[in-house]
Amino acid sequence: MLKKNIIDEADKNQLELYIHIPFCAKKCNYCDFLSFPMGEQEHRDYVEKLCREIELTSENIAPEREISTIFIGGGTPSLIDPRLIVRILKTIRQHYHVRDDAEITIECNPASTITDKFAYYKNAGVNRLSIGLQSADNRELKTLGRIHIYEDFLKSYQNARLEGFGNINIDLMNDIPGQTERSWQDTLKHVLMLRPEHVSIYNLIVEDGTPFGEMYEDGRLVLPEEDTASGIDGITKTLTEKYGYQRYEVSNYAKPGFECRHNYGYWSNVNYLGFGIGAASYFGNSRYSNIRDFRKYLELDFDEDMKRGWAELHTDVQVLSKNDQMEEFMFLGLRRIEGISETEFKVRFQVDIMSVFGRQLEQYVNQELLVHDGYRFRFSPHGMDVSNVILSDFLLD
Ligand code: SF4
Repeated sequence: MLKKNIIDEADKNQLELYIHIPFCAKKCNYCDFLSFPMGEQEHRDYVEKLCREIELTSENIAPEREISTIFIGGGTPSLIDPRLIVRILKTIRQHYHVRDDAEITIECNPASTITDKFAYYKNAGVNRLSIGLQSADNRELKTLGRIHIYEDFLKSYQNARLEGFGNINIDLMNDIPGQTERSWQDTLKHVLMLRPEHVSIYNLIVEDGTPFGEMYEDGRLVLPEEDTASGIDGITKTLTEKYGYQRYEVSNYAKPGFECRHNYGYWSNVNYLGFGIGAASYFGNSRYSNIRDFRKYLELDFDEDMKRGWAELHTDVQVLSKNDQMEEFMFLGLRRIEGISETEFKVRFQVDIMSVFGRQLEQYVNQELLVHDGYRFRFSPHGMDVSNVILSDFLLD
């Protein structure tokens, strides 16, 4: 059974921070994230502005909140000079109260140049690495347009351990063109034998505007057949169980006690602030995003006219209605293996969950896609496999 309360959901004083570093050495063939190649001067200019944003936000929003997690993502945060990462973390500590036990993660690409940077991260308080491997098959890595090979990853992983990192996530991918049950089994075995504390497994999504998107349009991208995909799911289930990992969310597996607290907070309605271009924030009952334009971000003038700079930074401000919040409770909560609590729903929204979602809950329990133990609803193993389809049924008019 999953350890209860990976995070304390009732702790309203906690706040999570996300830092977006939008730089990559080269775009991967499938990627539509907000990331691009840039020079070192742009890296420095961006971090300068980012630190100013961090400072100003602490003065304007919730100075009393305590930071429970920090996630430095991208892009490829490990691409930039590690002293810039140190600078960002120092700025955060100067302006926020970061809890002693805060989880601090940085995403890394397993390029050969990463190794020298681990000591900087460690000294700056980073205590969790998330390494984007995707596959242990060098042909698949080439197909994806990744710049590393498996051997680069191995070296990075070993050096991270030597540097003393005891909490490492490895990102892997399913549905890669050319991926077979055999190649997936090899990838997963290679990875699990290294005993990382956490593994994330996402399916490739073919996005418009990417090289894969174009190839798909022209019929040149051949994705694994449905049979292969279900064989791959079976291999994942067998091997993760064999090596002692628990699936605690649709795409995430962890050794007991190493669930990602940052992501778990997202799924559990904890407030978070995002810094840098495109970063999303959720505070109080409002959601908003930062502008996505790199040049405009650098030009924002917080000092000349703080209010104006602030207004120009934030876009898509959305105050969540009660219906929005109830939908999110279901979408996010059901993604977790422990599911959602009826009592928690009642306490939060002052209404019985069956009076709002009774039709869907009864239908999926009858179809054995959801399990109800009298207090909580959660996906059955088969329900988890088709969770996206089921979750779309919880939209309220
Ligand atoms: S490394 Fe990640 S963010 Fe950068 S291009 Fe590749 S998939 Fe996108």
